[in-house]
Amino acid sequence: MNLSTPIEKLYMVGPIYAKRLKKLGIETAEDLLHHYPFRYDDYSIISKIGLIQPGEKITVQGEVISMKNEYTKRAKRLQKAVVADETSEIEVVWFNQPFLVKNIHQGDKISLSGKVDWFGHKLVLVSPEYEIIKQHATIHTGRLVPIYPETRGLSSRWLRSRIAPLLIQCSRYLLEFLPSKIITQHNLLDYQSAVRQIHFPDNKTIAQKARERLAFDELFLIQLASLKRKAEWKREEVGNRFQISDFRFQIQEFIKNLPFTLTKAQRRSIGQILTDLGTPHPMNRLLQGDVGSGKTVVATVAMFVAFLNNFQSLLMAPTEILAFQHYQTIKKMLTPFGVKIALRTATMKQCNNVTMKQCNIIIGTHALLSEKLKFERVGLVIIDEQHRFGVEQRAILRSKGITPHLLTMTATPIPRTVTLTLYGELDLSFLDEMPKGRKKVKTWVVPPEKRKKAYQWIKKQVKNSPQQAFIICPLIEESIVETMQSVKAVTVEFKKLKEKVFPDLKLGLLHGKIKSKEKEEILQKFRQGKTDILVATPVVEVGIDIPQATIMMIDGADRFGLAQLHQLRGRVGRGKLPSYCLLFTSSESKKILKRLKAMEKIQIGAELAELDLKLRGPGEVYGLKQHGFVNLKIASMTDFKLIEKTRIAAQNLIKKDANLKQFLLLQNRLKKYTIKKVAPD
Ligand code: ADP
Ligand code: MG
Repeated sequence: MNLSTPIEKLYMVGPIYAKRLKKLGIETAEDLLHHYPFRYDDYSIISKIGLIQPGEKITVQGEVISMKNEYTKRAKRLQKAVVADETSEIEVVWFNQPFLVKNIHQGDKISLSGKVDWFGHKLVLVSPEYEIIKQHATIHTGRLVPIYPETRGLSSRWLRSRIAPLLIQCSRYLLEFLPSKIITQHNLLDYQSAVRQIHFPDNKTIAQKARERLAFDELFLIQLASLKRKAEWKREEVGNRFQISDFRFQIQEFIKNLPFTLTKAQRRSIGQILTDLGTPHPMNRLLQGDVGSGKTVVATVAMFVAFLNNFQSLLMAPTEILAFQHYQTIKKMLTPFGVKIALRTATMKQCNNVTMKQCNIIIGTHALLSEKLKFERVGLVIIDEQHRFGVEQRAILRSKGITPHLLTMTATPIPRTVTLTLYGELDLSFLDEMPKGRKKVKTWVVPPEKRKKAYQWIKKQVKNSPQQAFIICPLIEESIVETMQSVKAVTVEFKKLKEKVFPDLKLGLLHGKIKSKEKEEILQKFRQGKTDILVATPVVEVGIDIPQATIMMIDGADRFGLAQLHQLRGRVGRGKLPSYCLLFTSSESKKILKRLKAMEKIQIGAELAELDLKLRGPGEVYGLKQHGFVNLKIASMTDFKLIEKTRIAAQNLIKKDANLKQFLLLQNRLKKYTIKKVAPD
């Protein structure tokens, strides 16, 4: 029995509970020890029965005088006990727990924690936590009692009774892994005490200390892992260094030829990228910029430079449609310069392996890397809108023995603190400026009573005009993938809109379960103005660029994070006409309405993300949780002080001992923080 013992082998767990635990991500003894309580019931006051008062939350301990099941008229079952100590006795009742008579017997020494209440004319304890007193210290009563995140069929009581013996058995394996210098400097509780005290604290102060220590660990390890990855990646050499200055003239020519002038932010980012490309070490950069900030052209310059240096570039988009869109735009920009571009996706294999060899740029979906292709001259890999920022891609590339420059792009406005914490290994470029002439998207929160009017307004705007609208239906479940249920819901809504609301307009329907080819046809129709309104689910095509679409209507807006709403809103306002975003909600909660109203005022994605982080916590920021972005157990992404402290500690350590040679236990612990998965999702 040790920390890595699988959960099903633990004392009184078994396969059924093991399955439930796995739902919480708990697979080993160690995982179970790191399933922390999120609060405690304070039952630490142990009172004599004769002294208790109604309304008190207390613990009493005494002997069971009687215990029985009682049947009331409505066939409800009561469990009644009488418990006495040397001062008095008290009646105890539970409801519908007939099995209790098997656990509690006359003569048992028992400890009961709960609330004292009037029951008729007597004081009773109603449904208290109970525990037969044996030689061990109590765990469910008579102390600060831990309450855990639960899942169906897995109660805090169950967890307590498994964790308590585990702590006793495993304590000796809980070895301190932090350098002692860090412990003293930050006045941290030692690891073993922290794990013990977080579950069964002696008092509130030490519970807090335990929490601090474990939160420190969490943020420290995440940052240390990413800094270590950075150091390793930076130590690699790219096959061949790019020449930049030799091609200055061609690069300028390309930029001059664009139909617009670059923004300052675009020029700055291009500069940073070119500097990276000129070094012998592989670039690992994240280009962050709101929707419409013009990331594609920045990436295109980088690919052009790769071409000039006789290297291939791979560009990967999250969906086939986006890959196709990139293919079209980039072809337009680069063909005049003699660059050969290929598109290769599951359904659109416009090039075979032979022609691919001759192409300078290959555009596809994220699956491109996992294909059995031989990439020989790949010097640059660009990943558009992928959620884990290249961690997996790097692993794949490495397994194929290539070390190209890597540029990841995202419109997800992740708060800077989050980026720095979770992705300390990346260098960052921000497009914090929109191309000139972009108009604000006028935004309204629309309550249910105005829905009809809003529909009429949309009709008026769209009918007999080049303007077009999106109507976004929310996903039914909290999920990033579309379930059949969501598809059904959007189909029903589509039918209703088509037949009842907009019978004289042309509507299109788009959702994730439509085949790729058909999707492209639907989008093409919309792009060409042959449909007036596109009804869609939110997961569909975050990057589509259709300038004459001017209205974005989002149904059930309260189900989305602000940043996500902002991304959807970014589909409009790309052309010359004024654009609008209508947020429908039937929520009456002041909190929710206030949150949505922020959309009316704020037009900057990063600001909205920060606000969401404050209002809803990190898990909710742009579905970060679903993407496995933020999976903090105990620390908080809003604890900026701790983030800063732990980052500095991690940096100092890496500086001193990049391989952590002197800290084997720490090295070992870090393994948990390296990405196991290699295949792309
Ligand atoms: P995103 O950052 O969301 O990927 P895109 O690269 O798709 O944005 O650019 C959005 C639109 O803005 C495109 O139609 C592109 O041609 C245009 N664009 C990019 N940069 C500029 C600029 N500096 N001035 C004007 N329009 C630009
Ligand atoms: Mg884009």
